[in-house]
Amino acid sequence: MAANTVRRRGTDSSGRGIFATDYMWSWWKRVCKDLGVTPVITQGAWMVKNGGGAKASAGYHDGGGTFDLRVWNLTDAQVAKVVRTCRRYGAAAWLRNLEHGGFTDPHIHFVLPTDTGLSPGARWQWSEYLAGRDGLASRGRDYHWRPDPLVAKPPPGRKPVRELEVGMWNLRVGRDPAVVVSEVRQFLDDRDLDVLLVSEAYQYVGALRKALKGKYRVGTFWARGKSARDSAVISRVGLRTGRRYLHRLERKGWERRPGRKGLHWARSAVSRNVAGIRFIARHDPPGPFGPRFPLRKLANETSFRTMTRLGRRLNKAGRPWVDGPDKNRLKSDPVSQEFLDATGATAYGSGIDWAAASGVKVSDMRTHDFGTSDHRPKTFTVTKETR
Ligand SMILES: [Zn+2]
Repeated sequence: MAANTVRRRGTDSSGRGIFATDYMWSWWKRVCKDLGVTPVITQGAWMVKNGGGAKASAGYHDGGGTFDLRVWNLTDAQVAKVVRTCRRYGAAAWLRNLEHGGFTDPHIHFVLPTDTGLSPGARWQWSEYLAGRDGLASRGRDYHWRPDPLVAKPPPGRKPVRELEVGMWNLRVGRDPAVVVSEVRQFLDDRDLDVLLVSEAYQYVGALRKALKGKYRVGTFWARGKSARDSAVISRVGLRTGRRYLHRLERKGWERRPGRKGLHWARSAVSRNVAGIRFIARHDPPGPFGPRFPLRKLANETSFRTMTRLGRRLNKAGRPWVDGPDKNRLKSDPVSQEFLDATGATAYGSGIDWAAASGVKVSDMRTHDFGTSDHRPKTFTVTKETR
């Protein structure tokens, strides 16, 4: 098992190698992440690889599961926190000093019992800890905070997310924000969604952000104008998210409806990594694409080209992606087909609100009779492919 592989992780302050198994090292990184600081290791495990441990350590460090940590650079409160955190993560940890063990060089010593190859001394210390003692030869009472119940095994880490429930919805401009917000909230709840891709949302993202606070993140470009906040990637709080990206779909704009002056502003897409998948909220410029509206046709095609470049870039980076909701073009259209061919993506759903995805499996695409937008929302399940 790779978890048992012992590797050198660095050099301690005495110039000796710091050794630990992959298992213990990933445990240690979790503890440090929780602590928010990385204590200095003054003696690692597997000291046999350095020709044996410090005399004062009585061979405890010869095998797996034991580290010593520097304390002179920590406050008393920090020392207590390190001890507590190690204990909450299933290790026996003690501050050793003159008073406890007669150590002239104070340090925190801990034993992680679930590591492999513990020395007999380290095993004994663990059993002493379980029995409420201090792990010293004098066999005194434990002198630190003890978890109740005692933690004898590291708590399970966050499980990797395999399946996400995703929705997409063009919200339609010019509606009462209060209505839109309550519909979106209900839709998220009813469908228990992890991610919702929305468009035509610039009038609502502020209210949505407020209403969904603590439950969902509204990923958009808030302060960068209508176009930048027209789309948003809404994701459940608790899912790992990365930074947001703004994609200018095209730059010219297009003819408004007959009778309206000037051009419609050029649209943008917003994307964000959620649980390791790049979700893209896009809304391609609308038709009709006939000879009376040459700019509309151009804008939509340019937008598809922008998305093609993005898709290829993500493929190259090995990043799975999903896009939606509104492409203003059927998936059977040549422009759509060209996009799908060039990116290797698969299209799901029908009408102009279809999704494209690459590197993930999409299943159970459904259209819902819900809400008062002129578009009906869709949902689907995204499953990560195991590599
Ligand atoms: Zn030690």
